[in-house]
Amino acid sequence: TATIEADGLVKRYGSTPAVDGVTLSAGRGIIGLLGPNGAGKTTLLRMVATVLAPDAGRLRMLGLDPADPAQRTDIRRQLGYLPQSPGLYPGFTPFDLVDYVAVLKEHTDRDWRHEESRRVLESVGLADVMHRKIRKLSGGMKQRVALAAAMVGSPQLLVLDEPANGLDPDQRLRLRSLKTESSTVLMSTHNISEVGALCQSVYVMFDGRIRFAGTPAELAGLA
Ligand code: ADP
Ligand code: ADP
Repeated sequence: TATIEADGLVKRYGSTPAVDGVTLSAGRGIIGLLGPNGAGKTTLLRMVATVLAPDAGRLRMLGLDPADPAQRTDIRRQLGYLPQSPGLYPGFTPFDLVDYVAVLKEHTDRDWRHEESRRVLESVGLADVMHRKIRKLSGGMKQRVALAAAMVGSPQLLVLDEPANGLDPDQRLRLRSLKTESSTVLMSTHNISEVGALCQSVYVMFDGRIRFAGTPAELAGLA
């Protein structure tokens, strides 16, 4: 079965639908969610990350139902989420923060957790600053701390809201390696060239709906 299955998903703010009947089925690889500001990408990703409940429609992640509290907990253990504006604890160090996220995910072995925290921080290029206070880091570094926190424990499903935000071109291309980290990566972007460089498949969203589903090459063929 697909890692993410959505069928007729709807979310409204007041009477205006932000997500207006989304049906999709996402399997392995890096999947791009491309669309302009206001398209509904963040709202859709928040539902997939189980922080927002849909008003209507059916949603399954990893074969589990997020509407059921026990299954929701199971999903969260296997899911990493990079929110749009990650609120990091400024007084923590990157190492402490990533370790704390691992604790929340019930990784109880302290030695394993510390090794894993170092591994993900190194993989985003933060080895040198992992013991500095987060408040002293640049915006791009903070974005990478949040990315490392989402990656800890190699979750089966990674949900990334504009992960390339604040990254330089080099670090952007490094996002490719997420393919080996998690079997399914769903990432939003408003940048079509990012989709071509990073993604194996792409959904284009506009006005709350999916307007295209296919490969980046197929999408380029339309342009
Ligand atoms: P995107 O991530 O593609 O920019 P969003 O999901 O953030 O799109 O927003 C989709 C629509 O929903 C926009 O019109 C936005 O103004 C509206 N919206 C998003 N979040 C809220 C909210 N918390 N309250 C009211 N309206 C919202
Ligand atoms: P619990 O500890 O019981 O899981 P939480 O307060 O942590 O309770 O989680 C409730 C959250 O789960 C709510 O914010 C809600 O938006 C989210 N949620 C509930 N049902 C769904 C669903 N069907 N899909 C996605 N998220 C959901």
